[in-house]
Amino acid sequence: MMNIDLSELDIESRNLVAGQWIGAADGRTFAVADPATDREIAQVPLCGAAETRQAVEAAARAWPDWRSRTAAERGSLLAALADLMMRHRERLARLMTLEQGKPITESRGEIAYAASFLDWAAEEGRRLYGETIPASHRQKRILVLRQSIGVVAAITPWNFPSAMITRKLGPALACGNTCVVKPAEQTPLSALALGDLAMQAGFPPGVINVITGDPHAIGREIFGNTAVRKVSFTGSTEVGRILMRQAADHVVRLSLELGGHAPFIVFEDADIDAAVAGAMASKFRNSGQTCVCANRFFVHESAYEKFAAGLARAMASLRVGCGFDENVQIGPLIDDDAVAKVTSHVSDALAHGATVRTGGDLAAAGPGYAKRFFAPTLIDGLTADMRICREETFGPVAPLRAFTGEEEAIALANDSPYGLAAYFYTRDASRLMRVAEALEYGIVGANDGMPSTAQAPFGGVKQSGFGREGGRHVMHEYSNVKYVSWGLGGA
Ligand code: ADP
Repeated sequence: MMNIDLSELDIESRNLVAGQWIGAADGRTFAVADPATDREIAQVPLCGAAETRQAVEAAARAWPDWRSRTAAERGSLLAALADLMMRHRERLARLMTLEQGKPITESRGEIAYAASFLDWAAEEGRRLYGETIPASHRQKRILVLRQSIGVVAAITPWNFPSAMITRKLGPALACGNTCVVKPAEQTPLSALALGDLAMQAGFPPGVINVITGDPHAIGREIFGNTAVRKVSFTGSTEVGRILMRQAADHVVRLSLELGGHAPFIVFEDADIDAAVAGAMASKFRNSGQTCVCANRFFVHESAYEKFAAGLARAMASLRVGCGFDENVQIGPLIDDDAVAKVTSHVSDALAHGATVRTGGDLAAAGPGYAKRFFAPTLIDGLTADMRICREETFGPVAPLRAFTGEEEAIALANDSPYGLAAYFYTRDASRLMRVAEALEYGIVGANDGMPSTAQAPFGGVKQSGFGREGGRHVMHEYSNVKYVSWGLGGA
């Protein structure tokens, strides 16, 4: 068994408020566990409303100086933080695998991906252009300014413990806002490590604050405190709905990146090998625990057997085990609830007539490991009455169904309350454009199983939320438009 000790990684486990490392006022803490073994790896502060208020006040105090700095000054600090992340990449990656479980090669990839959002924002901040608009009166001029919003709270999930933070933090800071970060209870250490590096990079106290603890108490203070002007959330649709209701009281601006239920269509003219490779990337990254994971595969009947057999062959090469093993591609699921959900999706599908081609159950992980390792699973015979066809599985399960025509495939794909990512494979250029336009999703991978990147506007439609992260579009999420109608005097 591979035991990594936190002390080897030199990690700060207290909270960052106004440039100081603090514990909860009452000294309470909660445990962070390694999902692979269930072993406790650290205790972090169990903070609530009082500490959150301090963090918001610190961010509010830091705002006037931060917003008045030039874009170049802010950008150079963001670039310095990105650089520090890359210099500490191995240490941060090991910490991530320890608290989140993902294979170490994926953790290294996530650190680079996380740093890329800071670099992108550092550059993009220099292009927060305003406008002048021809006025309707000779003696008037109209100027449009883009300004910072104020204190931004970032509430983030456990599946990408670093990238989901920098994707918000980078553009929020580049636009001149100050931040309070509330990471997920499962993965607070990656967030605290980021706060530590931000201090080393030279960010002024209060510009970045990190609070861990009770999500309900922290959330209530965030939405109850009028200094917080914007909340950016990534997580479940269920919690997104709660936050939207809370935001109503003070009409707080929101960006919501919520659940997905991605369709993956393979047309009869697709390059099947490429489709299999795309399916592997889309389905099994992070053991199937991403909001853009393919969760419903629709394959043309004439290509079905070739695709299914190819996918099953590729899946057989996936090694399941501890994320610290360099040869492993599938780590543990995050916790026992996740295992219960994935197991129930498979048994429900079988009860409704599906059959298992490969996998279907927990994989043996060896002595000392928790029962969290789910075998990569391929299911034939997906139908609309199965839970797996309606709910996000968040596990390494690929359910397949055959279709006969393009319109049918599009209708099946769009039959979901979610609208985050969709994928399809075809070699017909006309079909590619037609289907890309018809899919009711914010992100479409057309012959691409891994579309996410810092320079593109990531985000959903329908119940997958609103707002975009990445690309130049993200800058609109973190800035306000103001126009100045300038009277020159005279007639
Ligand atoms: P997941 O299903 O991925 O665990 P959640 O939506 O439960 O996602 O959690 C995402 C983030 O939202 C986490 O940081 C969690 O602590 C936080 N969260 C959950 N409930 C609330 C709440 N009522 N108020 C504020 N934050 C919350």
